[in-house]
Amino acid sequence: MTTLALQTDPLAPPLLDAQGRRMTYLRLSITDRCNFRCAYCSPASWGGKKDLLDAPELGRIAALFASMGIRRVRLTGGEPLIRPDILDIAGRISRIPGIQHLAITTNASHLASLAVPLREAGVDQLNISLDTLSPETFRRISKQGDLAAVLRGIDAAAGAGYASLKLNVVVMRGVNDHEVRALVEHAHARSIVPRFIELMPFGQGTPVPTAELVSRLRDEGLPLSPEPEEPGASAESLSSGPARYWRAATGRVGFISPLTQNFCGGCNRVRVASNGDLRSCLGGRAQAPLHQLIRGGASDTELARAIRQALGDKPEGHRFTEPGNGATLLPMMGIGG
Ligand code: SAM
Ligand code: SF4
Repeated sequence: MTTLALQTDPLAPPLLDAQGRRMTYLRLSITDRCNFRCAYCSPASWGGKKDLLDAPELGRIAALFASMGIRRVRLTGGEPLIRPDILDIAGRISRIPGIQHLAITTNASHLASLAVPLREAGVDQLNISLDTLSPETFRRISKQGDLAAVLRGIDAAAGAGYASLKLNVVVMRGVNDHEVRALVEHAHARSIVPRFIELMPFGQGTPVPTAELVSRLRDEGLPLSPEPEEPGASAESLSSGPARYWRAATGRVGFISPLTQNFCGGCNRVRVASNGDLRSCLGGRAQAPLHQLIRGGASDTELARAIRQALGDKPEGHRFTEPGNGATLLPMMGIGG
């Protein structure tokens, strides 16, 4: 008999997937709209959908997952900070018993004014996306973004007392791969941990393998030594994640390598897309239509059963590298990375 079959109360922990991995981390996409149009993420003509979850629905879903064992929630998008009710959403979720960390992934365009209010609303971790320090390259990548506003936002976050700040850089060959050293320096000067991400095949651009970036940084005078894996880091640990960290004299440097070092083994995450569909895997199709069920009057127990059923189909790992997958699976704008 599997561990899933042993679960009697659908609302109680643990929340396990088909592989028996314990889910402790919920990524909640709160909008599929964005004020940028990054070529690797956004379909050129993306207008966004209307059926977004409202703040009370998002609070209900987060509380339901917390009762089932989720301990960390990340708000993502699209761009989560363009929602006018973002402080209401953050406050509701940070107050849920059992939620130990509330994180946001943002392009930083609205952080100059929101860094302090979000911290006060209970957000304790920010991942900020910044691929370049060049205004021309920034416009080329984001199409609509203003680099100066983003840099002001990053400085505001650095001064707002967050427990964890990370700078996510998607590296594209011939576009920003020559800037990795400068981005490490920009981040470390603000006590932020930079993380370089291998481009996943959702849009345009050519990825650069992590191993090449590590040698490049060493060749450019930044000696790096690998950090030992955290003792106790496992699928059940809150710290378990896809990044592997290296140490430089000025601070840590992270690498996320979905293409060359599949990180799925210790997966502890479950995703809810901006239309309210639960996605068991970033690169998979198994899902439960949570928003539809809520609108149909489903009870918490019925929602919990639907969640467990979808997780019963969660694959062992993503399949981006298989021919024909990638861009066809889902638009990144709706699922939030
Ligand atoms: N708008 C926010 C932002 O840009 O940080 C949050 C949403 S965005 C979809 C979340 C993360 O996914 C960002 O760090 C972004 O750089 C990353 N991302 C988007 N498309 C990607 C791709 N094709 N490959 C790797 N990372 C990607
Ligand atoms: Fe918007 Fe973030 Fe996607 Fe760029 S990566 S288009 S900022 S959602």
